[in-house]
Amino acid sequence: MESINPATEERIATYPEMDAAEVRRRIERAAAGFELWRTTPVEERVVPMRKLAELLRARRDGLGRLMTLEMGKPIVSAEAEVEKCAWVCDFYAEHAAEFLAPRQVASGAAASYVRYDPLGVILAVMPWNFPFWQVFRFLAPALMAGNAAVLKHASNVCGCALAIEELVGAAGFPDGLMATLLIPSGRVAEVVQHPAVRAATLTGSEQAGMAIAAAAGRELKKTVLELGGSDPFIVLADADVAAVAAAAAAARTINCGQSCIAAKRFIVEEPIAEAFTEALVASMQRLKVGDPLDRGNDLGPLARRDLVDELHRQVTQSVAAGAKLLCGGEPTQRVGYYYPPTVLANVLPGMAAFDEETFGPVAPVIRARDADEAIALANQSNYGLGASIWTADPARAERLAAELQAGCVFINEAVKSDPRLPFGGVKRSGYGRELADVGMLEFVNIKTVWRK
Ligand code: NAP
Repeated sequence: MESINPATEERIATYPEMDAAEVRRRIERAAAGFELWRTTPVEERVVPMRKLAELLRARRDGLGRLMTLEMGKPIVSAEAEVEKCAWVCDFYAEHAAEFLAPRQVASGAAASYVRYDPLGVILAVMPWNFPFWQVFRFLAPALMAGNAAVLKHASNVCGCALAIEELVGAAGFPDGLMATLLIPSGRVAEVVQHPAVRAATLTGSEQAGMAIAAAAGRELKKTVLELGGSDPFIVLADADVAAVAAAAAAARTINCGQSCIAAKRFIVEEPIAEAFTEALVASMQRLKVGDPLDRGNDLGPLARRDLVDELHRQVTQSVAAGAKLLCGGEPTQRVGYYYPPTVLANVLPGMAAFDEETFGPVAPVIRARDADEAIALANQSNYGLGASIWTADPARAERLAAELQAGCVFINEAVKSDPRLPFGGVKRSGYGRELADVGMLEFVNIKTVWRK
């Protein structure tokens, strides 16, 4: 397994794949750690979790650099990502006792209540786009609930995967409670089948989600799936065009456009469509693309060569189907997997840029006659992760929010994840939730106790 710097195309490191015996040994060590950990009172679990937050903050610069080198995100965002991981650790350290507190239920019994017990070893299959955040938003609640975890990270970020294991070890959790498995995706089913593995979570593509859900289904094990999205960014006719266009460019190009919740379809009411599109092109063209280690740049390269090819196919097919290319649209001729900020106008359902998830800095603009048609277009997608509405009338937007088929709706703000709020999707964006109290309760045994 190898890590390639997407900005230079140079190989940074190679890692030997772990064999079946090593994978078993790691799962069984995590299971042994679980036996110790599950009976550790929540108040004591807080100690290594707080330490983990402290270590993340202390090592922020080095961890940020590692992320940037392995997958190309701008260094400023990489460092912010490490801080956010520390936040989620602190959040669950602070709230776990409250989220896991037994719930008394009046039933006529002498006592009846619900308790939340951990399940065992949970498998996490994670993507490269937020190589720390995706892992920590699963790991912090899972560990605080008393579970153990094994991580199969994306094959291009093995360095991050090992760094996370090292950090958890250094924080003082039981030995091996969290372990990284360096294996390719073809071997995930082998992990799911291990009897000590009690459930699995995957963040990634639909194809990967289907594969793990099928493997877990055969074993009757629970899954949580956080999959792709094609989030609508709805601009109503009363919006402040200049400000919203600037926010649109930022929402599209976060992480060089490689975010599940990046805005991916700009659905604009007819009267302002022309002005919005012009302002969006200007905002996209202002973005600085280049070396992600240079703090002055807004966008780095995409993470892998095949992602550039796939994005370019989507742009080319959309243009061939009638979309109008307003800027960008050709892979940059330089070393590194760069793709320029791109805007497509006149995009319609049936075009690749509308129907598929575009994972890069490509902004398709779609016109809508009125707000009702905007909502209908927004819902005309296989995905249902996030959505945003931009308007001078937020009360109206709250009413429209009820009509949107999405796991979250943000009004006059770009979609984002926050430890305090549930995160997840509907339709082909997956099922289950991460973060907040509900995220923690995905991997527990909700146990009824009844006493006569
Ligand atoms: P991906 O190819 O699905 O990879 C994600 C993870 O799944 C990697 O660890 C990958 O391992 C593994 N995997 C791939 N195919 C598998 C299979 N058949 N069986 C088991 N595991 C498999 O996705 P990606 O390209 O890394 O990430 C981009 C996708 O993730 C986008 O669709 C994006 O929207 C989605 N995403 C969703 C969220 C969310 O919260 N909803 C967040 C971030 C990203 P290998 O690397 O070894 O192939």
